[in-house]
Amino acid sequence: MDKYRLICPKCGKTYGKYDMLCPLDGSLLRTEYSKKQFESCDLPGIWKFYNWLPVEGVIKKGSSKTRTYKSEKLADKLGLENLFISFNGYWPEKEAYMRTCSFKDLEAYPTMQRVSEQKKERILVVASAGNTARAFAHVSSITGLPLLLVVPENALEKLWIPAKSTSSICVAVVKGDYYDAISIAAQITDREKFMPEGGARNVARRDGMGTVMLDATLTMKHLPDHYFQAVGSGTGGIAAWEAAMRLKKDGRYGDKLPQLHLAQNFPCAPLIQLHEGVAVDPKCPEGMYDTVLFNRKPPYAVGGGVRDALEATGGDLYGITNEEAEEARLLFEELEGIDIMYSAAVATAALIKAVRNTKVSRSELIMLNITGGGVKRALKELATIRLEPDLVVSPEDSEAPAKIIQKAEDKFE
Ligand SMILES: *Cc1c(COP(=O)(O)O)cnc(C)c1O
Repeated sequence: MDKYRLICPKCGKTYGKYDMLCPLDGSLLRTEYSKKQFESCDLPGIWKFYNWLPVEGVIKKGSSKTRTYKSEKLADKLGLENLFISFNGYWPEKEAYMRTCSFKDLEAYPTMQRVSEQKKERILVVASAGNTARAFAHVSSITGLPLLLVVPENALEKLWIPAKSTSSICVAVVKGDYYDAISIAAQITDREKFMPEGGARNVARRDGMGTVMLDATLTMKHLPDHYFQAVGSGTGGIAAWEAAMRLKKDGRYGDKLPQLHLAQNFPCAPLIQLHEGVAVDPKCPEGMYDTVLFNRKPPYAVGGGVRDALEATGGDLYGITNEEAEEARLLFEELEGIDIMYSAAVATAALIKAVRNTKVSRSELIMLNITGGGVKRALKELATIRLEPDLVVSPEDSEAPAKIIQKAEDKFE
């Protein structure tokens, strides 16, 4: 029996292992694992969850996993008895060693493993303004699998990686914003030698992020009642819901799905706009606390997407202002003792709001997903290098995709 298969959650049809959408109804495909009860593996990092990852092998080097622990100080401050923090980032005292400091690490490893399993020699293309680019670049430098990064120019300063070699990475800088980078990348992935990473449609990304829910549930020995996360696309929320459904079917961790509490950064909150009809400021993402949380086309209405996840779990969306996020960040850092990324501060602010509005009660099991943290520590303690541009293109240049393709093909010849 195969380790897993991909099915459409709407029509139930089975698809090939590398398909991404149901051609009949457009739904996100979902992984169904042959092992219905979860068994951990004695492997490093994320591979502890190997049995529920859509891969047939592992990339051992440099991988880490979530560390879930019971909060004392923040929990006390908020009057909560069972607050568990799932930390994704670099924090040696907690044995948290995600070297690019965010849960994008959990997406990059299984995705790159799957790329290596597809026999065709192809170049993976990732358009990103930050954490995703770093995570994929790190795994590329470890494995040597060729990666083409298409990034806006303001992202360059964020492109440090804890690695020695960058020879497997081609960096194309677009003199424009994140959306210019995405649009150019889309014209490249059409070509035969290139492949898109797939975003929310990629089951390796979702099941990778789903390991945060697995880690928390194994630590708490029960599914949480509430799940808090800051979202841009909302893919992490979908992933948490899918992992929770598997754990519910497992039978040993409770029979109620955790309620999703997904947080966005006001006034640039496209998911809230789709959900409630609140307008997004046309100036967005300008002035945002964390632009990581801005996505113009989140997978909201697609089958198996954010709307379905919220409906199935009785979940809620939160709009968090920059001031609320900053206040939450300072509180978290003071009480828990580690620096966190701005988006994780947005999730913390949503938790504070939920406590104030009695959306959660004192004794319930609450899980706070700290999606990124420990950057200050990592930059101090790890040897990092900066990625340099291989070429710079203008979004107005109609030859830009062709120039990038040429450069990447030359580099990876
Ligand atoms: C990408 C990212 C998020 C948002 O993730 P979704 O894909 O919307 O679930 C939150 N926090 C950090 C640190 C991220 O890098």
